[in-house]
Amino acid sequence: MRLLLVEDDTMIGEALLQVLRAENYAVDWVRDGSMADQALQSECYDLVLLDLGLPKRDGLDVLRALRARHNAVPVLVATARDGISERIAGLDAGADDYVLKPYDTEELLARLRALLRRSAGRAEPLFEYKGISLNPATHEATAHGQPVSLSAREWAVLEALLARPGAVLSRTQLEEKLFSWKDDVSSNAVEVYIHGVRKKLGTELIQTVRGLGYLVPKP
Ligand code: CA
Repeated sequence: MRLLLVEDDTMIGEALLQVLRAENYAVDWVRDGSMADQALQSECYDLVLLDLGLPKRDGLDVLRALRARHNAVPVLVATARDGISERIAGLDAGADDYVLKPYDTEELLARLRALLRRSAGRAEPLFEYKGISLNPATHEATAHGQPVSLSAREWAVLEALLARPGAVLSRTQLEEKLFSWKDDVSSNAVEVYIHGVRKKLGTELIQTVRGLGYLVPKP
């Protein structure tokens, strides 16, 4: 999952970056409103964590412009604990949810998971597919009740494909979900992770669609 973190406070931003990366999200961090706007026009994110008070361009303004482009990416706005009017303005400008600053990390992560789930059209917290189960809250994977140890990126590949069984994701789309700007991406990285998943969970789980990409077949 690829997230855009929009936060102008260096200390808060660095702390969040660490927390989010530890949860295996690929994160791009920008520190002002116009950078946020540019990133949102050039990249495809699974979720945006948006501070509202930003230099250069206000967070609400970035959000309104995003929705005016019919971009439906889930947006979680960060507002001050006493900023009720700010919270309402954020939700009415197109935010999906809000978190209070200073952040409670566990609550923030739970809200992220809830939003990612809803945006993928899922109500249930686990990914379950033909005896395989992934728990995004605990990062536990099991196959027929037995624990399976997946690397962070094997997990990310599988999660992206399980989110939409039957849909083909190209190598580029998978790379976008797996890597942030800072990561060096080798040309066969996605193939390597898919190979790893197949080795651990069976070769028929992820199918290659020649010339197009990969899919998990509809159950
Ligand atoms: Ca701020």
